[in-house]
Amino acid sequence: MAAIDNLMNLAAEAESALDANVAEVDRILHICNACRYCETFCAVFPAMTRRLDFNVADAHYLANLCHNCSACLYACQYAAPHEFGVNVPKTLAQVRRDTYVEYAFPRVLGMLYRRNGLTVAMAVSLGVAAFLIGTILLKGSVFVHGLEGEFYAIFPHNLLAVLFGSAFGFSILALSIGVARFWREVSEPGKPVPLPNALGEATRSVLTLKYLDGGHGDGCNNEDDAFTLWRRRFHHFTFYGFMLCFASTSLATLYHYLFAVEAPYPYLSLPVLLGTAGGIGLLIGPVGLFWLNLRRNPLQIDEAQRSMDRGFIALLFFVSLTGLALLVWRESAAMPLLLAVHLGFVMGFFLTLPYGKFAHGIFRCAALLKYAIEKRRPNPVQAGSE
Ligand code: SF4
Ligand code: SF4
Repeated sequence: MAAIDNLMNLAAEAESALDANVAEVDRILHICNACRYCETFCAVFPAMTRRLDFNVADAHYLANLCHNCSACLYACQYAAPHEFGVNVPKTLAQVRRDTYVEYAFPRVLGMLYRRNGLTVAMAVSLGVAAFLIGTILLKGSVFVHGLEGEFYAIFPHNLLAVLFGSAFGFSILALSIGVARFWREVSEPGKPVPLPNALGEATRSVLTLKYLDGGHGDGCNNEDDAFTLWRRRFHHFTFYGFMLCFASTSLATLYHYLFAVEAPYPYLSLPVLLGTAGGIGLLIGPVGLFWLNLRRNPLQIDEAQRSMDRGFIALLFFVSLTGLALLVWRESAAMPLLLAVHLGFVMGFFLTLPYGKFAHGIFRCAALLKYAIEKRRPNPVQAGSE
């Protein structure tokens, strides 16, 4: 009974924090709407000018449209110590985290966002422990000579395909349901949808991380009012590193099922070259993002989100590091140990995809698409005043 009471209290606290965060968005965006100094900085301000009041759906949409570049904080004449205390990036970051909780599937697992560092640590620990135990049960030790890089001599391919296919499939389903709920709340049914042009613009904004340039091309703010492009660059290392690893895995699946060519692949084969390039990107990007995160001005960031950011950055880094270590020492007696550790990290990554920082990319893509659609429609505020 006590546990249920605690859960109910946690849910009630979360609900009232959510209302307070949305109310704060409404307060500061009324000030911004009168000021409009930051109109050219990013997509948030033009989207804001299409509204006079900001309900829950507007707050959720604008929160996910914001890239937390912080240009509007350093430019703001109404930021603290002014009595208005305007802080757009931090306020939107708080609501952004609320949206991940709100749209999570199943809903009850949304609470995992609130203890995200712990969630990631537990998922990885369980994953690594399970694969280490499995290795010992199947091979009697985590050090085995003479396997010559034959991963499937430890865990059969079909077993891995079922385990990782199920975890990845569930995560994609949960993320899709979450983003579909978000879309249902923020979209405006019945209005024209200029999809091809909007899709093109949103894709460009995603692939170039357009709104991390501060609106002037010199970059965003990290620890002070100096501009830096490094956050954008490290995001690119991370994003394209991830995409290359994904391409490598997809190609290896094709090799296996279409051409009946099994791993391990030669060092100069396409899957290994793609995976190595992606893995290096996934080391450089997360290290850089972690370095920037440590130096980040607390004024710019929702403190509760730091553990989510750092947990995800660390997870990507170790997935890549263990993968590259496995590649380098795949023909040594330590291969079973390295394989178990790598598989454990990858499983932890898959299982936490819908309940961690990965979600921000999916929700931001949806918000950018909505922005690209609505900007092609007449501005309802100007239309109303004509
Ligand atoms: S953030 Fe400050 S300067 Fe920018 S539009 Fe809002 S009130 Fe004006
Ligand atoms: S932090 Fe950057 S992206 Fe977010 S609202 Fe301000 S200027 Fe726009």
